[in-house]
Amino acid sequence: MGSRRVASSVVSTRFVIIGGGPAGNTAATYAARLGAQVTLIERDVIGGAAHLWDCIPSKTMIATGGAMSFTRRIQGMGLEHQDAEVDNVALQDRIEDIQGRLQSNTIRLLESQGVRMIMGSARFIGPNLIEVATADGAEQIEADAVLVASGSRPRIPDWCHPDGERILTTRDCYPPKVFPTSMTVVGSGVTGVEFVHMFSSFGASVSLVVSRQQVLPSKDPEVAAVLEDDFLRRGVRLLKGARAVSIERNGDEVTVSCDDGRVVRSSHAVLAIGSVPNTDHLRLELAGVHTDNGYVNINRHCQSNVAHIYAAGDVSGKLPLSSVASMQGRKVAEHVMGLHKVVHRHLDYDKAASAIFTEPEIADVGLAEADAFAVGRKIRVTKVPFSSNPKALINNDASGFVKIVSDPATGVVLGGSIVGRHAAELISVIALAVTANLTVSDIVESLLVHPALSESLAEAAE
Ligand SMILES: Cc1cc2nc3c(=O)[nH]c(=O)nc-3n(C[C@H](O)[C@H](O)[C@H](O)COP(=O)(O)OP(=O)(O)OC[C@H]3O[C@@H](n4cnc5c(N)ncnc54)[C@H](O)[C@@H]3O)c2cc1C
Repeated sequence: MGSRRVASSVVSTRFVIIGGGPAGNTAATYAARLGAQVTLIERDVIGGAAHLWDCIPSKTMIATGGAMSFTRRIQGMGLEHQDAEVDNVALQDRIEDIQGRLQSNTIRLLESQGVRMIMGSARFIGPNLIEVATADGAEQIEADAVLVASGSRPRIPDWCHPDGERILTTRDCYPPKVFPTSMTVVGSGVTGVEFVHMFSSFGASVSLVVSRQQVLPSKDPEVAAVLEDDFLRRGVRLLKGARAVSIERNGDEVTVSCDDGRVVRSSHAVLAIGSVPNTDHLRLELAGVHTDNGYVNINRHCQSNVAHIYAAGDVSGKLPLSSVASMQGRKVAEHVMGLHKVVHRHLDYDKAASAIFTEPEIADVGLAEADAFAVGRKIRVTKVPFSSNPKALINNDASGFVKIVSDPATGVVLGGSIVGRHAAELISVIALAVTANLTVSDIVESLLVHPALSESLAEAAE
């Protein structure tokens, strides 16, 4: 994004944003660019939980773990096997270095747009008045529009008391103070399976408590099956149909007990059972804003029931993804500055691409095969395995597949999933097709690179 400010007839709009994560900082940058007078309030770190605890540190750990597991596979590539060892201090330095760089970039961008940043904790005094408690005292700020982008935090049930050492939330894992020799992961959604992958790549013996009969219960069963196979191949113990009911620590040992009587002992346990919204301290009731289980109810413009108060990101209770939070922030900025009256495309949450950074990587977008069948919609499904792709063979990693779901009458691409190396990158092609209503022929007729994994996309679109 450039640093030019766009002239606007509503330059005086005073826009106050609570939370400097992807939702808040994107809204701040775009609104300032469109001419708003923006104040961004953040109590921890500009960049938000996404940079500090969630996306960035988890993916950095996964990248290092992935390099480690890659060294175990190099024999097949004409190299001698070498064992790698984790250097906990170097790993932590690397995470902090990446976080620092990303934070500086974000702050520079906000400064270049003239955004006022205040480090402090915000709460409502009234619908147009925000109070910020800073290290130097309190300040009150008047606002014409407010964005609540205060994010979420890990859900901790009352039967579990994380100690930050061996009973962990996801936030204590980057890296844990003592590296786990064995780990029990409680929760088998996206975060849970990523933590299984992370710690098993580092050589820990991992158990996963899966409350249903399938890991990733909301995903395509075929996709989940590939991941389960990989976990079993790596020796991960799957406790299906079990709910954790207590986690106790005794010295260096942690015991997870399940409702069916099964018990797992390990050096560490991590809770990955979802999140709760950060709204309890905001005094939203003083602004008349309605919430549902703490999440702010929003309409398609991200407005709450109070028209000038918006919510975006995890706190809005929509898809808890950094990419979605940023896009919501952008849409809020456009709405606050009246741009939606000129040009506005509504956010279609059903077209959000998402990825799971496991091995193999999993990514999907748009309509899933199972969902189409559930509503009796006619679809065409084409699937191509990476085992026939030259680049996958060269990479010594030919597991996984590309699946494209399209409309049999028009050829319009409705969705797709990819399992395999670089799936998170490759899904962009299908995501673009889904957003822009492109057809399978548009993909087939693109002149792609050879040898490349993307050739399987063209093949699946045939
Ligand atoms: C382990 C893990 C890994 C993840 N990995 C990915 C991934 O790979 N890709 C992806 O797209 N998503 C990922 N997510 C989800 C992603 O992190 C969130 O969807 C994203 O952070 C939401 O952005 P946000 O702006 O709503 O909130 P946040 O990033 O949580 O930022 C909110 C900010 O508001 C601040 N705040 C709260 N209350 C106040 C207050 N009263 N005053 C001032 N400031 C306040 C907080 O300090 C925080 O900095 C992951 C989540 C987890 C848990």
